[in-house]
Amino acid sequence: MQIEKKDIRALSKDQLREFFVSNGDKAFRGNQVYEWLWSKGAHNFDDMTNVAKTTRQMLEENFVINHIRVDQMQKSEDGTVKNAVRLHDGLVVESVLIPTNTRTTACVSSQVGCSLDCNFCATARLKRMRNLNPDEIYDQVLAIDNESKLYHNRPLSNIVFMGMGEPLMNYNNVIKAIDKIVSPEGLGMSPKRITVSTSGIPKMIKKLADDEVKFRLAVSLHSAIDEIRSRIMPFSQNFPLSDLRESLEYWYNKTRSKITYEYVVWKGINDNKASVDALVKFCKYVPCKVNLIEYNPIDDGEFQQASEESINEYIKALEKNDIVVKVRRSRGKDIDAACGQLANKEA
Ligand code: SF4
Repeated sequence: MQIEKKDIRALSKDQLREFFVSNGDKAFRGNQVYEWLWSKGAHNFDDMTNVAKTTRQMLEENFVINHIRVDQMQKSEDGTVKNAVRLHDGLVVESVLIPTNTRTTACVSSQVGCSLDCNFCATARLKRMRNLNPDEIYDQVLAIDNESKLYHNRPLSNIVFMGMGEPLMNYNNVIKAIDKIVSPEGLGMSPKRITVSTSGIPKMIKKLADDEVKFRLAVSLHSAIDEIRSRIMPFSQNFPLSDLRESLEYWYNKTRSKITYEYVVWKGINDNKASVDALVKFCKYVPCKVNLIEYNPIDDGEFQQASEESINEYIKALEKNDIVVKVRRSRGKDIDAACGQLANKEA
């Protein structure tokens, strides 16, 4: 019977050091291999050129490296790049590189499909198949960092967890991946350049605060009126805005880190005065800023982008109340890489 080899990247640095010692080698060999696996992103043991050939063979006999594979890369006319990423078990997720003049942002996935059911979102139409492992999340970032260096001559500057999946429903693995991304032994990125975007699960937002995370938090709000929000995001029936507000106050009291609200204005849904007033009121509870995001229809159904005038009503009201608001134009629309459009069409 063939024994299935273990993924070497499931081992911590200490475990790797112990492995070498128990095989009659020096502990520092574990450090060398660990560096190859994480900061250098080796896909094969043979890439580890400063490790003796016999050692590489021994690793090959005992382990595999379950690296992701970028199966397909699509480039948009605006420079956005979408990667279809094949995981070791054949499933596919998508991640996106979004360049501007000054920065390159990676938008990464945290689940295959999604546990939630937001009605406007293409990913919601795929059932959740599984959570991504920390290394699968890390690898998406590494692949985009390499593409950023290749196409823009600069490393990746920011990361947003806004791809497929709800990151807080894969809490432990997302935290482990971020730990690796910020570690000097990984990519050494500042946590302030990382934003985890959640649809707003109060219990998990409180857990983030208790765990004293250092990255930024964004919440897909889309409405500050319960009835409208549950029409847009049916799962939110279980999480009323009063609970969300309480969790955000808890977050801010512990972290002192401002919240970003992601908000799309849809025709006939939240393009009305009551919705504008409710958002302004909600924004006063916790220091925040608002991103009004351009919507990319996934079909010709209920969810269509509201008029410019309706969006301007939001901007006027927020600015009048000294709330910072930005309009985020969608990127990569021609390759279905824009917000809410990730759905493995090519897989
Ligand atoms: S918007 Fe985010 S949380 Fe909602 S279904 Fe889509 S991927 Fe999941």
